[in-house]
Amino acid sequence: MNPVVKDTIDHCRKLGLRRTKALEELIATLLEADRPMTLAELAASDRLADQCDKATVFRLLQRLASHGLVRRLGLHERAAYFTLLVPGKHNDYLICTTCGRIEAIQAPCPVHQLEAEIREKTGYRNLYHELEFFGVCPACA
Ligand SMILES: [Zn+2]
Ligand SMILES: [Zn+2]
Repeated sequence: MNPVVKDTIDHCRKLGLRRTKALEELIATLLEADRPMTLAELAASDRLADQCDKATVFRLLQRLASHGLVRRLGLHERAAYFTLLVPGKHNDYLICTTCGRIEAIQAPCPVHQLEAEIREKTGYRNLYHELEFFGVCPACA
């Protein structure tokens, strides 16, 4: 098993989540995805399609999100994307307000310096952020 999947599952168990095959497969799928995924994509994915139904995937996502392990991105319920929050790794995103498409920004993080300053000024530890930029994509413009 991928060590990040294992760590995440260990973390889930400490938070009181029951370890199920569906939970394992969901975490592995989110981790393997190279971009945030919608509920429909997750439910139809190779690992999850035979494992559980869409409602179960949704419940698991909600539970993971409420514990800060998964982040919900996007504009609204119809175009919501889910991504696993992995310590030390993050993306900033570009989201189209017309069609709801989302992509990771392929540029150095613009607020790295700001994060370091905030850490220094406030004494907060384990700071993280993910930015969402909204606009109209070329296909919709
Ligand atoms: Zn668009
Ligand atoms: Zn960033």
